Amino acid sequence: IYDLELIDVGKVYDNGTTAVSAFSLAVNKGEFIAFLGPSGCGKTTTLRMIAGFESISSGDMMIKGVRMNDVPPEKRPTATIFQNYALFPHMTVRRNVAYGLEVKGMAKAERDRKVDRIIATLGLEDIAERKPEKLSGGQRQRVALARGLVIEPDILLLDEPLGALDANLRKAIQNELKILQRTLGVTFIFVTHAQSEALALSDRVVVMNQGRVEQVSPPHQLYTRP
Ligand code: ADP
Ligand code: ADP
Repeated sequence: IYDLELIDVGKVYDNGTTAVSAFSLAVNKGEFIAFLGPSGCGKTTTLRMIAGFESISSGDMMIKGVRMNDVPPEKRPTATIFQNYALFPHMTVRRNVAYGLEVKGMAKAERDRKVDRIIATLGLEDIAERKPEKLSGGQRQRVALARGLVIEPDILLLDEPLGALDANLRKAIQNELKILQRTLGVTFIFVTHAQSEALALSDRVVVMNQGRVEQVSPPHQLYTRP
């Protein structure tokens, strides 16, 4: 049984734009998948359909064998990390991280335990009482990661999460993502238009073009023809 399965998934927006056509992919638990392709090829749309922010026009999407087409985002075992971080500006780092658990109604003791653990995992102890405006770009991105991971999702969806960072920081966070993949066993779906990023991070690269999957390969086979 796959962690995530897309079966002939298509998306036509209300204005008639076909964004994704016949997208099929089966992802194993703990895999790191990159969606790679030029702007407008349908990467974000596919990610948003997996998260449930966009409806699926055709085909089926399953997580752990359960059909997700009509399941609302908050009921899916996914968390999404955006390039713009989307942190709450008036909340401290700790509260930003705790928020998703508060919304779920989790008891304070259990919530504190989970928040402390993920704050330690991402090395955020020293900035836990700061507000987002006082943080660097790399720190904000780590907080966004902590906020996604604290709910213990099966699948972490990342939409160009490193795009706003400089090269050194990007490298550092890439390494952290690989460590998180190994230690937490979470499945990663990572959207990027940067080939180097897809190659450095992923177990398999899904190359997209004009709404279609062109190729699915491990990085080292990306450029070898069968
Ligand atoms: P990518 O993430 O690869 O840049 P997108 O998934 O954002 O690609 O976009 C795929 C196609 O769908 C593009 O042609 C884009 O213009 C179109 N599109 C994206 N969002 C919408 C929307 N809300 N309404 C109509 N068309 C959209
Ligand atoms: P695009 O795909 O062209 O970036 P979208 O309409 O998909 O345009 O999204 C606009 C911005 O809002 C993107 O940066 C996206 O990551 C972000 N976004 C979309 N949905 C959410 C959400 N539920 N919460 C926070 N940010 C979101």
